[in-house]
Amino acid sequence: MVSDAHRRVIAIDGPAGAGKSTIAKALSSRLNMKYLDTGAMYRAVTYEAMLRELDLHDQRCVAQLAQECDLHVGIDRVIINGHDATVAIRSAEVTGNVSTVAANSDVRTEMRVRQQEWATAHGGGVIEGRDIATVVFPNAVLKIFLTASPEVRAQRRVDQSGGDVTEIAAAIAERDLLDRTRADSPLASSSDSIIVDTSNRAIEDVVDEIEKLFLERSL
Ligand code: C5P
Repeated sequence: MVSDAHRRVIAIDGPAGAGKSTIAKALSSRLNMKYLDTGAMYRAVTYEAMLRELDLHDQRCVAQLAQECDLHVGIDRVIINGHDATVAIRSAEVTGNVSTVAANSDVRTEMRVRQQEWATAHGGGVIEGRDIATVVFPNAVLKIFLTASPEVRAQRRVDQSGGDVTEIAAAIAERDLLDRTRADSPLASSSDSIIVDTSNRAIEDVVDEIEKLFLERSL
C-alpha cells in the first residue's frame, strides 16, 4: 500500500549542475516542506569508505558499511558515524568516486529504504536525486526532471567552487555517463516527469513554475 507521505513528495531529478539543490531548497522553504538531498547520502557513504581505505569495487564490503552506518543528512549538515562530513563530501576525490559506490545495488537498496523511511517520518518532502521519480517514489505527486546544457552546468560548478571549466565539464560528463548507464536505477526521467530546462532561466522563475504545478495538483 502506498502511504500518503510517499505521495506527498516533489521529486527533483536530473544530472549534475542542473540546479537541483538550489531549486529544491527554495521550493522546500516556500512550501514549508522538508528537504532531502539523496546525493549527499551516496557521497557520505563514499567518503566514509575512502576514510576506511576500503576497496570501492568490493561490493560486499561497501554495502556492509552502507547498511551499518549511522547517517544524518540535514538541510545544511551531513553527519556520518558521529563525524561531520558536510565539507568533505564535496571534495573532488569524493565526487570522482561517488558514481562507483552509487552503482552498487546493495548500497542503493539500503539508501532507498532510508529515503522512504525519511519521507514517512516527515510526511513527504522535496527530494532531489537521480532515481527519485523512477524508483524511490513512483507515486510522487509531482516529478520534475531538471536539465541544462553541458556548458551552463559546467559554468555553474565553476561559479560555485572555482576550477577550470574544461576540466569540470569533462568530469561532469564522465559522472553523468556512469550514472546514466549503470544497471540499477540509472539517471533517467520518468514517463510522467515534467522536463524543465534551466539553462537560460532565473532560479526564481523555475521555482515559481514548480510551485504552481504543485499547488494545482495538491488542491
Ligand atoms: O546530486 P549529487 O551530484 O551530489 O550526487 C552525487 C552522486 O550520487 C551522483 O553522481 C550519483 O552517482 C549518486 N546519486 C544516485 N542516486 C541518487 C542521488 C545521487 O545515484 N538518488
